[in-house]
Amino acid sequence: MHDHATYPIGLRLAGRHVVIVGGGAVALRRAKGLLAAGAELSVVSPDLTPGLQALRAEFNWVPRRYQPGDLAGSWYAIAATDEPRVNATVAQEAEENRIFCARADSARESSAWTPAIDRTSDRTLAVWTGNSTRSSAWRNSLAQLDVPHLAASVRPGEVVLVGGGPGDPSLITRAGWAALMSADVVVADHLAPTELLSELAESVQVIDVAKLPRGPFVGQEAINQLLIKHARAQRRVVRLKGGDSFVFGRGGEEVAALVGAGVPTKVIPGISSAIAAPELAGIPVTHRGLAQEFTVVSGHLPPDHPDSMVQWHALSTLKGTLVVLMGVQNSVAIAEALLRHGRSKETPVAFVVDASSNREQVVTGSLQEVSALMESGNVRTPAVMIVGDVAGLAN
Ligand code: SAH
Repeated sequence: MHDHATYPIGLRLAGRHVVIVGGGAVALRRAKGLLAAGAELSVVSPDLTPGLQALRAEFNWVPRRYQPGDLAGSWYAIAATDEPRVNATVAQEAEENRIFCARADSARESSAWTPAIDRTSDRTLAVWTGNSTRSSAWRNSLAQLDVPHLAASVRPGEVVLVGGGPGDPSLITRAGWAALMSADVVVADHLAPTELLSELAESVQVIDVAKLPRGPFVGQEAINQLLIKHARAQRRVVRLKGGDSFVFGRGGEEVAALVGAGVPTKVIPGISSAIAAPELAGIPVTHRGLAQEFTVVSGHLPPDHPDSMVQWHALSTLKGTLVVLMGVQNSVAIAEALLRHGRSKETPVAFVVDASSNREQVVTGSLQEVSALMESGNVRTPAVMIVGDVAGLAN
């Protein structure tokens, strides 16, 4: 039903009394919006969902069934019980007292309609079509067109580090995507979800730092200088990385360099492959009865390397899950170190290769079989190595 006789307005409810009758899922959704608008809210219901209980301090709870007169003094009311007869009585009281009322169970019987909304700090988008699924779909499409909002998410002269997730372009956060779409310059790693780069406007300068001259410190120093240079030229700079920027991503070093150079900097967290790669292979890093901890370590140095800061002997005595990143090259040495210090030969091991891409592959075995698994040729980089009973749950 779409009624052209509706008249769109925005209610300014700050400090104004609003009543919700009902304490379930609909009440919770409405309560959040009303509280955000500053309404002075009462909820009439014998019981509250846990979500509403968590908000208890922010509204006045009338812990009983609705009684006529409960809407007294309110500017707006929502009838959201699961009993149509009660909702009808609430709507009737509202009508008699000239209080606008939304009935959760009947748009037709409501004097006010609740739109699908999308809010940012400086605008509200509200859509209704008479069908809430369609309204939400419209809202979603329109929100994506909000270029001014996107543009606001990275300011000129600012660098935003975006954790891009494990590789699938849909596994970036909303905030990360918005920052990316507002960039003038994108500085990307090779493990970043590079498919997203095809969504950028032609005018956006994309710098693939995988192609910069390498070397232990030269590479990172060159990246820092590049970020600083573009920020000082008042560009909107996004530093796009794989997974989360602060998990073996040198994000901390980049932030320190930027802050040191006086460049405004923000970090948007990403989904780390340390959790996502096992998860996509059906391996929960914690699991009741199997693992009460998970430890994430870098395997880029072999266990006996003088620069290695990882206490492999201590890790061997842990019962929980060990997640090794950058460990393909050294996986045999890692398995040997764990065995030598006491982890059982039968401990399940899984390698998740190219997680979240269409080349994703899971290779499983036990700790004593790692060298055979490597010889099979199926374990390539990038891969996450998982050691522990949960690895036995792999798909
Ligand atoms: N910051 C990243 C990790 C960077 S270190 C994150 O949080 O995910 C690079 C290592 O991450 C790789 O050697 C590999 O172990 C792991 N990795 C990253 N993406 C991966 C993917 N799609 N599949 C498997 N492993 C991945």
